[in-house]
Amino acid sequence: MNIALCGAGTMGRGIALNALRCGHTVVIFDINADACAKAHTWVIGQLGKAVEKGLLTQEGKEKAVLQFSTTTLLDDCAGANLVIEAVAEQLDIKHALFRALEERCSPETILATNTSSISIAALARCLAHQDRFVGLHFFNPAHIMKLVEVIRGPRTSQEVVDAAVAFARELGKTTVVARDVPGFIVNRVARNYYNEAQRIAMEQAAQPEQIDRCMRAIGFKMGPFELMDLIGVDVNLDVTKSMYGQYFNEPRFTPSLMQQQYVDAGLHGKKTGGGFYPYES
Ligand code: NAD
Repeated sequence: MNIALCGAGTMGRGIALNALRCGHTVVIFDINADACAKAHTWVIGQLGKAVEKGLLTQEGKEKAVLQFSTTTLLDDCAGANLVIEAVAEQLDIKHALFRALEERCSPETILATNTSSISIAALARCLAHQDRFVGLHFFNPAHIMKLVEVIRGPRTSQEVVDAAVAFARELGKTTVVARDVPGFIVNRVARNYYNEAQRIAMEQAAQPEQIDRCMRAIGFKMGPFELMDLIGVDVNLDVTKSMYGQYFNEPRFTPSLMQQQYVDAGLHGKKTGGGFYPYES
């Protein structure tokens, strides 16, 4: 299959890697040439690591390298059978991109979004052909995490839901078809993990490092602060803001002032070399 990933950030590159390892042809599109270059280097490096770990043959790697490209020209996505959008978590940015994609792609092309929280109905309303629009929500790191939420919008056709499920399973994922409610399933549960942890830290009842250590010790793979650093403190805050608005300012989802300060300071987590914790570049 010809797949176009829009957005060369954390998620776009992880999904691209997963698809390449399963034999698909992948182009990553981003408006930022530097993001494209970094994603290219990262994907090629990860393909090499997969060979070292015995997860991919040398032949498989060489084929994947030939089938992979990055671009800053949206026209290069025109031939895709499946487009997966993974740009900023903001409705207006996603709308502008999907409108431009619809002008370029065939009406049969499946248009999917990796949104963490925005209603599929709201995203699809900018399109003439809404039946081919679907949520395909991967988790971070996308090439490792097993779950994909497939979200059916009010106008998504059954054929497109089935195709999205089949595609995710072919990538080795476990799928769940979720209803189109803000945050779907996992992010709705997870909001409390991040928000309550920040309330505890703001009350100075415990330090972020202590909270993370406690959560790991009771069996979570990562504590809330290190997880926000991995996700992107900025991306995570955008998701909370989006859910808060969509649930009509429901107090449970109130964004944290603490998180806003980290974002304002440019401390966006691992990708910027620092967030709640410092990281080497
Ligand atoms: P990111 O900030 O790492 O990357 C976003 C990329 O999109 C950047 O490279 C940016 O240059 C590019 N971009 C912005 N506007 C664009 C446009 N109009 N056209 C093309 N490229 C554009 O973000 P991310 O963490 O990869 O998140 C992307 C999407 O995936 C968001 O909707 C987010 O909610 C969702 N998501 C994120 C995670 C996570 O853990 N980070 C998990 C699941 C879903």
